[in-house]
Amino acid sequence: MVVSSPSGGGKSTIARKLVQGRDDVAFSVSATTRPMRPGETEGKDYYFLSDEEFDRRLESGGFLEWATYGGRRYGTLVNEVQRIFGEGSHALLDIEIEGARQVRRQFPDAVTVFLLPPSGAALAARLRGRDTESVEQVARRLARAQEELRAASEYDYVVVNDDLVVAVEQVAAIVEAESLRVPRQQEFAGLLEQLQRGVAEAQSPASQQQKETRS
Ligand code: ADP
Ligand code: 5GP
Repeated sequence: MVVSSPSGGGKSTIARKLVQGRDDVAFSVSATTRPMRPGETEGKDYYFLSDEEFDRRLESGGFLEWATYGGRRYGTLVNEVQRIFGEGSHALLDIEIEGARQVRRQFPDAVTVFLLPPSGAALAARLRGRDTESVEQVARRLARAQEELRAASEYDYVVVNDDLVVAVEQVAAIVEAESLRVPRQQEFAGLLEQLQRGVAEAQSPASQQQKETRS
């Protein structure tokens, strides 16, 4: 599942809450060449790589997708997603619009969600209030928000992140509904077979007789 939004739209906040609330969803920790922010942890928020290390991973086919954002590179590691799938979980990717396009091309059944801020003023206030970027970086991120908003209609779902609790519930509802799709239910074939056997047994004369004896 891919979640995108303009910077400050609430991706990290909603992703964190979603992963806390569902043990079948794991956050795909991306690699980036941007510096670590105060409060971030290596391997939890990102794998912080040097430019050389990012190049090495790129050359060895280590990225499922990657893009440049604010002059820094970000990418989803193939290993990370394989590890999550190996655990039988859904992978949650917090990535920007170019990366989302690459994922969609490679995995047409990926579920994509775009988070919208309730207003431009709220977006700017949240981004500034996070206090993690310089004034210039905030301005650049807001300028990029225009282009990102234009991409919203490429996504499968749009959620307005006004009230955080409601937005988290809505994203969780998307995960719930999407995970109930027949092709995603691995136990479906076995369950169906078991049910068919059960129904056949319930119809058999022996079973009818047992019922009559009991009554
Ligand atoms: P992103 O990961 O999309 O850049 P964040 O999750 O870091 O965005 O959110 C940006 C800021 O807005 C954070 O300080 C976060 O706590 C705050 N925030 C997120 N969602 C809401 C919301 N629904 N109401 C108020 N503040 C929010
Ligand atoms: P930030 O610097 O605020 O953590 O992230 C900046 C942007 O990079 C956000 O839009 C975020 O979704 C995006 N991003 C984070 N990880 C990845 C990734 O692995 N691939 C791509 N394409 N974008 C990412």
